[in-house]
Amino acid sequence: MSVCDIVTIGDPVLRERARGVTPEELRSPEVQELIDDLIETRRAANGAGLAANQVGEMLRIAVAQVQGINPRYPYKQPIPLTVMVNPAIEPAGEEMVAINEGCLSVPGLRGYLERHAKVRVRYLDRDGNERDEVKSGLTAGTFQHEVDHLDGVLFVDRADPRTLATWDEYERHQRAEFEERARAIVARYGS
Ligand code: ZN
Repeated sequence: MSVCDIVTIGDPVLRERARGVTPEELRSPEVQELIDDLIETRRAANGAGLAANQVGEMLRIAVAQVQGINPRYPYKQPIPLTVMVNPAIEPAGEEMVAINEGCLSVPGLRGYLERHAKVRVRYLDRDGNERDEVKSGLTAGTFQHEVDHLDGVLFVDRADPRTLATWDEYERHQRAEFEERARAIVARYGS
């Protein structure tokens, strides 16, 4: 396992759609090693998730995990380690929530955007088993953010540009308000 360099906004790989993984590829040592590297790299960078194109691999694979208190996103509820291969996501209901996001590939910036409050996500796990799950609240936001990456979409594309802030200014002007909103989302959706 190794920690990879994370590419940042401006690198064209973040703007391309990653391609689907075949069952044979998924079983290969190379792809299994890439999955291990994504898990390790996310952990080292304290992200909530990481998509393969963020390390320059154009395959539809992303990982998500929140353990304990994440220093970047202390309001997030735990997410068990999830490896998504070929994920497909769709809204589960009409409700939207406003979430303040950041991204390891967009260093220094956060901003508000609207996410679906509940989503259905179907994917293969790293062993090729089919998964079909509903995610809610802040966790639903994390899954939408990661699948967006695999489609070449960054949170700044969806954010209200007038809410973009450096992390310092977020701390100063937005954190208290957003953490209150985040608590309300967790109270309503459980995650
Ligand atoms: Zn991101």
